[in-house]
Amino acid sequence: MLVNADYLIVGAGATGLAFADALAAEADVEMIIVDRQPAPGGHWLHAYPFLRLHTPSAYYGVNSLALGDDRVDRAGENAGCYERATGSEVREYFAEAAARLARTGRVRLLAGHEHLGGGSNGELVRDVSTGELHDVVVRRKVVDARYLQASVPATHVRPFDVAPGARVIPVNDLPQTAGSASCYTVLGAGKTAADACTWLLDNDIEPDRIRWIRPREAWFYDRRHFQPLQQVGAIMEGQSLDAEAGACATGIEDLFERLEAAGRLARIDPSAPATMFRGTMLSAGELAALRQIEDVVRLGRVRRIEAGRIVLERGEAETGPDVLHVDCTALGLSNAPATAIFQPGQIVLQQVRYLSPTFNAALAGFVEASRDDDADKNRLCPPNPYPSTIEDWPPMMSRTWTTEMRWLSEPDVSAWVAASRLNLLRALPDHAAEPSAQSAVQRFLSHVTSATERLAQLTGPRT
Ligand SMILES: Cc1cc2nc3c(=O)[nH]c(=O)nc-3n(C[C@H](O)[C@H](O)[C@H](O)COP(=O)(O)OP(=O)(O)OC[C@H]3O[C@@H](n4cnc5c(N)ncnc54)[C@H](O)[C@@H]3O)c2cc1C
Repeated sequence: MLVNADYLIVGAGATGLAFADALAAEADVEMIIVDRQPAPGGHWLHAYPFLRLHTPSAYYGVNSLALGDDRVDRAGENAGCYERATGSEVREYFAEAAARLARTGRVRLLAGHEHLGGGSNGELVRDVSTGELHDVVVRRKVVDARYLQASVPATHVRPFDVAPGARVIPVNDLPQTAGSASCYTVLGAGKTAADACTWLLDNDIEPDRIRWIRPREAWFYDRRHFQPLQQVGAIMEGQSLDAEAGACATGIEDLFERLEAAGRLARIDPSAPATMFRGTMLSAGELAALRQIEDVVRLGRVRRIEAGRIVLERGEAETGPDVLHVDCTALGLSNAPATAIFQPGQIVLQQVRYLSPTFNAALAGFVEASRDDDADKNRLCPPNPYPSTIEDWPPMMSRTWTTEMRWLSEPDVSAWVAASRLNLLRALPDHAAEPSAQSAVQRFLSHVTSATERLAQLTGPRT
């Protein structure tokens, strides 16, 4: 079968749908979205049962459709903060977002279809269930919405061996399996491992029955600085702390000490050096709970789990048949290197503004519709790789600030950014007169230029 479209979008995850939604709003074009999975939603189709967004729903998803009701939670660990959708809520939301796109009559979603690359008659797409091949003739561009695709425990290739007799589960199986174990060993240093430990503690597992294997120590943002709408002053406060720390830092370690002292970032064990920074966040309550776990193994990555021992990069730890090992070692967000977002014949969706994946994809859709020249589009959307280590924080922030300044001098772009529901600062103009927001904005503005210069020096030739 031969089909054609202006754009072929490969990947119906958060970024593919956010791009398509923004482009459809701005341009009268035809799009085909393919995904090898049976439904839209990308990695959310494999979310562990207790996964929630770590950011508020208020600024996640596609631009034209609200996620949730912008409710402030009154109870639980998220009390006082904006609601965060569960995995199943995010899946339902993306199914609705995809259905709305299809109803425009200009977007066709081919779920269960895999993009194989360019063929002699166009782009080659294979129906996963029948094996049938289709040629898609693309009039404008192929959109790579899987360049930064997520790796999650349910589907990744486990990076360690498991010998017979050892009990190892992906984090997704924890609720159904937890009751059959007496002790738990959680593997991984990131947000998924933190979620697994929090789930165990919430389910009345005493902290001394939990061992946590942390190859690296991670930094986490305080979620209170990511509250939008009525609390948008808190986001500005966080950004002013970033700019102040960036402007004054004498080195990377000093920078992180400043961010920690200011309450912007925290590590679970303040006495252990932390080198990992993935841009995830925890609430103060989650942090306090996690600090109860004292049995922390810091011997590097796990190589092999046997019935009686765990072999790690730098040593061994005892284990046993009644210990459930919970795999939280998947990478999460991709570490793929930066490449130009707008290229001849293709668009490679990536991060632009830090911690805003769906905003960035939607912005790329808007810019694609509103500019003709790829050099101009790339000037407005320079790639900004996801961070992994503390060394990645300075270039990520200085790129974000430099790019945001560029948007301000382009009236159409700044108007789109100001109105976008995916822009975490959307409500700032409504609250700019409040003393706390006003002072945060002033502190940010008085430091951001010197911070950008200082961070470039800290980064050296990597900028
Ligand atoms: C656990 C987790 C929690 C997160 N929480 C938040 C949060 O709270 N807030 C936030 O802002 N961000 C969050 N993110 C990040 C964000 O939601 C996105 O997941 C991230 O930007 C990746 O989305 P994606 O669409 O690029 O990739 P994916 O979701 O991985 O989707 C890529 C899609 O491409 C498809 N695909 C790949 N190759 C092909 C091919 N050849 N042919 C057809 N289809 C193909 C895959 O099947 C997949 O469905 C989270 C990420 C993870 C992993």
